[in-house]
Amino acid sequence: MNLIVMKFGGTSVGSIDKIKNVADIVIKEAKLNKLIVVLSAMSGVTNEMQKYIDDVSSDEKIENDLILTSGESVTVGLLSAILKKRDIKSIPLLGWQIPIVTDNNYQKAKILNIDKERINEFLKNFDVIVLAGFQGINQEGHITSLGRGGSDTTAVAIASAVDAKRCDIYTDVDGVYTTDPNIVPEAKQIPKLAFEEMLEMSSTGAKVLHTRSVELAMKNNLVLQVISSISKKPGTLILDDKKLIEKEIVSGVSYSKNESKITISGIPDRPGISALLFGLLADQNINVDMIVQNISQDGITANITFTVPNDEVNLANNVLKTNINKLDFSSIKTDKKVSKISVIGMGMMSQSGVAKKMFKTLADNSINILAISTSEIKISVLIDEKYTNIAVKSLHEAYNLKVK
Ligand code: ASP
Ligand code: MG
Repeated sequence: MNLIVMKFGGTSVGSIDKIKNVADIVIKEAKLNKLIVVLSAMSGVTNEMQKYIDDVSSDEKIENDLILTSGESVTVGLLSAILKKRDIKSIPLLGWQIPIVTDNNYQKAKILNIDKERINEFLKNFDVIVLAGFQGINQEGHITSLGRGGSDTTAVAIASAVDAKRCDIYTDVDGVYTTDPNIVPEAKQIPKLAFEEMLEMSSTGAKVLHTRSVELAMKNNLVLQVISSISKKPGTLILDDKKLIEKEIVSGVSYSKNESKITISGIPDRPGISALLFGLLADQNINVDMIVQNISQDGITANITFTVPNDEVNLANNVLKTNINKLDFSSIKTDKKVSKISVIGMGMMSQSGVAKKMFKTLADNSINILAISTSEIKISVLIDEKYTNIAVKSLHEAYNLKVK
């Protein structure tokens, strides 16, 4: 018998009926394989927990992670109980019972170790382990959470630790699409994607997989399948690019409205100033993404524009203002109403003209580009947030990604 990891997201376990549907899928698979089934909380529950935390303005990290991870106990208990009623040898487990050991970074903890021997012990006595996603235990014995959407990462980490044959990520859509079908109804399901492409898509806004889960799968060369828990259609396989016969020049268009732009004007144009500025931000764990610098007309000062996630912009603004004496700039401006649009594709590495087409398409729609960043397989531009939909639609069209 092989060992398979199956992960079901919040929408797939969002009600008792849906959990019963998950039980059907699990039972079918359990006839052929040993299973570790990783679950999220019911959809909306983790948000509700966050709201409770906000209501009491709790900044207690230990308590907050305890509250945030509570929804998974419910779904794990329910599914395991339903499986047992249907004569499946199942055991419900929380992260600490394995244990899944993490560092102390509450709310974005990283997994340090998973006890493989313990898992094998459980698998000797049970056919199905139903495991809570999104949580672990740190070396001080407190429960930690892995960051929102983190149960994908639990699934991939477990699958890698036990050398699972497959890791199937069940969700409410039948795979990864060329772009958000809510914006472009003609968006296409993608049958196969390289790890690198999925990584760029996740980190530039596609919400289908937790970015760290893709990183981890790539590192361990673990094939992922994103598949629907409702339709019976084949999902999207995410795998090593050497297994892709045809490399698309552009595979998808993603967007993120979770960007804020900061512009610092009149900063001295001398060696060391960027190191100082971005060093101050890094010290506060602020995640800087796109950076553009231009020299002002006097040749003595410069302007620097960069982006940070929306929820870090106030902190960034404060840090820079507090250090105005060291940085010696004349003004700082922040803008939350920007959005980052990215086009991604492995074939870009060997093809020219991809950027030109992107810029021309945006220009044809009178959309101004505020910043640009690129990698070997991605081009991102920052634009005014109000043009997000039109930019996504027109790029999707320009690169011919529609269902033909
Ligand atoms: N329940 C957690 C969340 O909503 C983890 C997950 O769903 O992956 O973020
Ligand atoms: Mg998710």
